[in-house]
Amino acid sequence: MSLPVTKAPMHVPSMEEVAKVLQSGLQKNFSNVEVNVVDCPDLTQKPFNLSAEGICGSPRLADVGGPKFLLPLPQKDKLYDLGDIAKLVELPGAFIVGAGAGPWNVVGFNSELICSVQVSKDGLKAISCNTHTAKVNTKDGSCVLDKLKDTLNFNLMGNFLCCEGKPGKVIEIKASKRTGEQDFSAAVRKTLYSQYNTKPVALGGVFLVEKGKANLHIMPDFSCTPLKSEAEVDNWLNFYEMDAPLVCLGELVSYDPDLDLRVEHFHCFSEHGQGGHYHYDTTPNDVSYRAYFNIAEFIYRIDQPPVTKHDR
Ligand code: ZN
Repeated sequence: MSLPVTKAPMHVPSMEEVAKVLQSGLQKNFSNVEVNVVDCPDLTQKPFNLSAEGICGSPRLADVGGPKFLLPLPQKDKLYDLGDIAKLVELPGAFIVGAGAGPWNVVGFNSELICSVQVSKDGLKAISCNTHTAKVNTKDGSCVLDKLKDTLNFNLMGNFLCCEGKPGKVIEIKASKRTGEQDFSAAVRKTLYSQYNTKPVALGGVFLVEKGKANLHIMPDFSCTPLKSEAEVDNWLNFYEMDAPLVCLGELVSYDPDLDLRVEHFHCFSEHGQGGHYHYDTTPNDVSYRAYFNIAEFIYRIDQPPVTKHDR
């Protein structure tokens, strides 16, 4: 596996400090906010149903590939393996949670990846896996959420928290009744940016949309006509209003130290057949969020797409 990797240290304030910052910042966007440092609940249990007990032990983010690999035509050969990713982030046997593109070679189709897997130390198989894919039903355009079995592959892009999957202290955020314009992950990210500015603070883990509805997208099958811009990509995506409870996995970074990072990326799954890429809630009065995040020590930028003139 010879993918280019850039490792960048993150700013790591104490959890207590970050909790205080979020407590005051999120109140500008939600009526009810409660942020605490707590013991991570057992994430293998409902409503989380993840593949390891906790999100602690050597927390780090992996930002792999990117949406640029969809333009103008999809680079299907950008096929990655989570066993390799665990090694590239220097954590063989990692528990990996987050958002990416599903493995077209396995699914037979382009899809969203909602990743929750603990890989074996040799990186060859999953020890425990509850990864899902969400794809578009070609007949009626509805969402098809499937459990992904027997593969560590994914395609094109991925944004993951990698850790040892241990119990430990985490930041708990409870926020309900949205009064501001920011969606949940953007509100967290922008609050951190306003406090820490160009010192990047990176969080990863899980949040629940416990009540209300949310706008999510699913990528349809690969476009046969070239997509020339982000606006054309947005047009190509299928958007849905989906129902709580949704389990959303991913990561966010308050500031991009010039690594072409995806600064926030969360994908959701559920027990009622819905899932996809989280954008925002559509029921501000009724929405209720609960999150468990760890603070990542490093970001590993893996297989960064070439920077083109177009980006500048
Ligand atoms: Zn996504």
